[in-house]
Amino acid sequence: MPKILDGAAIAAAIKLEVAEEVKALSARGIRPGLAAVLVGDVAASQIYVRNKVQSCSDLGLYSDLITPPATVTTEEMLALVAALNAREDIDGILIQLPLPAQVDAKALLDAIDPAKDVDGFHPVNAGRVQAGRPALAPCTPAGVIEILKRSGIAISGKHAVVVGRSDIVGKPAAMLLLHENATVTICHSKTADLGAITRQADILVAAIGRPGFITAEMVKPGATIIDVGINRITDRVEFDRFFAGNEKREAAFAKRGSTLVGDVHPQAFEVAGAYTPVPGGVGPLTIAMLMANTVRAAKLRRGI
Ligand code: NDP
Repeated sequence: MPKILDGAAIAAAIKLEVAEEVKALSARGIRPGLAAVLVGDVAASQIYVRNKVQSCSDLGLYSDLITPPATVTTEEMLALVAALNAREDIDGILIQLPLPAQVDAKALLDAIDPAKDVDGFHPVNAGRVQAGRPALAPCTPAGVIEILKRSGIAISGKHAVVVGRSDIVGKPAAMLLLHENATVTICHSKTADLGAITRQADILVAAIGRPGFITAEMVKPGATIIDVGINRITDRVEFDRFFAGNEKREAAFAKRGSTLVGDVHPQAFEVAGAYTPVPGGVGPLTIAMLMANTVRAAKLRRGI
C-alpha cells in the first residue's frame, strides 16, 4: 500500500512552530503583520484569503484585509502597494491572484518591497532562490520540500521530475529540489514523450493544472508523487472518470455537486510508494508556509 503523505498534519506542525516563534517575538514587543489584498468578489479567492486571515489570527499574527473593488485601476493598486511598503506594522504583503484584466499584475508584484514579498513572486526573490541565497521562497514549492523532508523521503541523488514550469510553482520547485541535490528534469507542454520522462522519476511533482493528467502508466512503481494540482470537478462524466466506485467521494459529490481532483489520476497513486492526496496534500502547506514567511520577513527586516 502506498504511503499517504498527510499535508494537513505537516502543515499543523509547521503552524505550531510558527506560533512559538510569534510568542517569542511578542516577548520582544514585535507582532508580525500580514496585509492581504483581495480585489473584487471571485469566490475561490475569497475562501483562500479568508483562510489566510484566519490562520494569522490562530497563530497570533496581525492581519489587515484590504478589499479594493473589481473596478480598481493599476495606478490605484500601485498607490496601495506603496502605502503598504511604507507601513511599519506590515511585514508581509499578499496580493491574491488572479486580478481583474485591467490591472497589470506583473507591475504590481514587481512594486512590492522584496523584503515584504511573502509570496516570493518578486524577481529579486526568484533570483535569490535560484542563486541558493536565503530568500522568501514561494510558499507552494517551499511546502513541497517540507513535505518531502518531514516525511523522511530522501531527495539527494534522486531523479526529481517536475511537470510544469510556471514562475510560481514549477520553476521554483525545480530550483529548490536542485538545491537539495536532486537531479532535476523540468517538463512542460512542449516536452516530447512526457511519459518516458515521468517514468524515470523517483520524485514526480505535478503542477500542470489539468485534472488527472498524470496516469498510472506514467509513474515508476514505488515513486513518490507530489500532486500540486487543484482542479474542481462538477461534471458527472468527469467525476466517474476519476472516482467511480469511491463511496466517500460519491457522497461528497452528491452533497456539494463538486469535488477536487489533482493533476494526477487517483489510479496512478496506487503505483506510487508515497503520494500527497488532493485535498489534504500540498494545499494546506501553502498557507503554513505563508505564515512562516511572514514571521521570517518580520525577523529579517529587524535584523533578527
Ligand atoms: P500554470 O498554468 O501557470 O502552469 C502550468 C504548467 O503546466 C505550464 O508550465 C504548462 O506548460 C504545463 N503544462 C500544461 N499542459 C501540459 C501538458 N499537456 N504536458 C506537460 N505540461 C503541461 O499553472 P500553475 O503552475 O499556477 O499551477 C499548476 C497547478 O497547481 C494548478 O492545478 C493550480 O491550481 C495548482 N496550484 C496549487 C497550489 C496549492 O496551494 N496546492 C498553489 C498554486 C497552484 P507550458 O509552460 O509549456 O505552457
